[in-house]
Amino acid sequence: MKLAVLSGKGGTGKTTVAVNLALSLAEKGEKVLFLDTDVEEPNAGLYMKPVLEESLPVTIAQPEIDQGNCDYCGECANFCQFNALAVAEGVVLTFPELCHGCGGCVLVCPKEAIQEGKREIGVIEKGWADSIKFWQGRLNIGEPFAVPVTRYLKNGLADVQEDIVIIDAPAGVSCPVIEAVRDSDFALLVTEPTPFGRHDLELALKMVDHLGIPSGVVINRAGKNNDLISELCQERNVPILLEIEFSKLLASLGSIGIPFSRVLPQWQERFWGIYQSIKEGCPCAS
Ligand code: SF4
Ligand code: SF4
Repeated sequence: MKLAVLSGKGGTGKTTVAVNLALSLAEKGEKVLFLDTDVEEPNAGLYMKPVLEESLPVTIAQPEIDQGNCDYCGECANFCQFNALAVAEGVVLTFPELCHGCGGCVLVCPKEAIQEGKREIGVIEKGWADSIKFWQGRLNIGEPFAVPVTRYLKNGLADVQEDIVIIDAPAGVSCPVIEAVRDSDFALLVTEPTPFGRHDLELALKMVDHLGIPSGVVINRAGKNNDLISELCQERNVPILLEIEFSKLLASLGSIGIPFSRVLPQWQERFWGIYQSIKEGCPCAS
């Protein structure tokens, strides 16, 4: 089962939920693969403290111009939809940070003056956090394209043997989130009972509906304003699977990098309960 943990809004505790869920399932004997797809700021490792054993570069295609063969016709620059090429008198300029690596300019050049080079934009790191297989993507600083790193990270999923893959998605509802979440069997949306939390949860629910992924909600920092979320969940017919009450103890543990389910075993049972509920309602469960 591929279970994506996401949140429309940043700072809701998405990674906290993903990590505690993974640890609780592993404690119960499930074989877990944890994927940190928040490639612009992967931080699940701060809690899980994995030993990383492998680092694989992620590259995208990038044009390399052979100025000697070029007649400066301008066809490559006309073709490029991203303004990553410009032809001036006697020179072809490339702007690597704008290039999406589509390779189209190589094909349209009538003089075969463009070769397909490579540019490294990030890495995939693989290792173990105790019995949990742990993979994360990391986008190089200053690189704008998170999606290829996430796609490369998820490419290896076809061959994994684990019972459950937990995907810690980036916050928001933009392209990197869609890439992280698509093809998941279930989406666990983490929110908080505030107007912003409700607003961004609604966006995230629309996104997973559009992708055809069944979903459930976790209310973090739950308290007297829970109605803000429960009304929306009722309207959209989405179950609330867990409420994590606002607690100084839980916040303190998080602030020093300790997942609370590690030291408060009752939480392992609650996260295990979520997993059972999802399995019961999820057609992918075997
Ligand atoms: S399409 Fe080829 S020949 Fe024309 S300007 Fe670009 S690199 Fe030069
Ligand atoms: S590879 Fe695609 S995006 Fe990059 S410069 Fe060529 S046409 Fe533009």
